[in-house]
Amino acid sequence: MKITSLDWVNLDTVLLDLDGTLLDLHFDNYFWMTHVPKRWAEITNGTEEECRTYLLKTYEDMRGTLDWYCLDYWSDRLQLDIVALKREVLEKVGLRPDADRFLRFLQGQNKEVILVTNGHRDGMDLKLAKTGITGHFDKIVSSHDYRAPKEQQLFWQRLKEEHAFDNSRALFLDDNQSVLRSAQIFGIGHLVQILQPDLQQPSHEVGDFPAIEHFAEILN
Ligand SMILES: [Mg+2]
Repeated sequence: MKITSLDWVNLDTVLLDLDGTLLDLHFDNYFWMTHVPKRWAEITNGTEEECRTYLLKTYEDMRGTLDWYCLDYWSDRLQLDIVALKREVLEKVGLRPDADRFLRFLQGQNKEVILVTNGHRDGMDLKLAKTGITGHFDKIVSSHDYRAPKEQQLFWQRLKEEHAFDNSRALFLDDNQSVLRSAQIFGIGHLVQILQPDLQQPSHEVGDFPAIEHFAEILN
């Protein structure tokens, strides 16, 4: 179901995903599907196409695990300096439409705003510095801090232990349905899915969760 408003008076805490929610997922898609295969082909004597095919299959096998999100893991496995490669294409990092306006709105409403990302801290730091949004968060949590991705209940248990909040008065926005389902099982009261994480790709169909394409839809 598409939504056009939220009951802000009954919300205290806003949990925000980073990649594909606040930031355009195009950067990550371009990085992993184009840039890494290209650089990997250079050191393995494979063609770029062979490398891409192999890597896409490897990513798929790892999907949703903490290692899948871990830059140290991929640096080690592919023998590439992944953080250095990210710097090479950093100009592609950008905010999704009205993300900064949404963050300012939350600050103006005095909500507690917590960034909850599966992204590794090294990559996250580059992106936050590039977009200048660090100051909008009361807390910043990477699932690597808890050794468990958001897809696992352990992540939410640890988040709650570290930062007490009322589930029934918490809102969580994310573009990943598996992650939203995990938050739902944990009992986060209000969930919203972002339907167009990558601005260069078509929007996803509405799934099991209340959904928006862009922040402007809930800022009116
Ligand atoms: Mg995401």
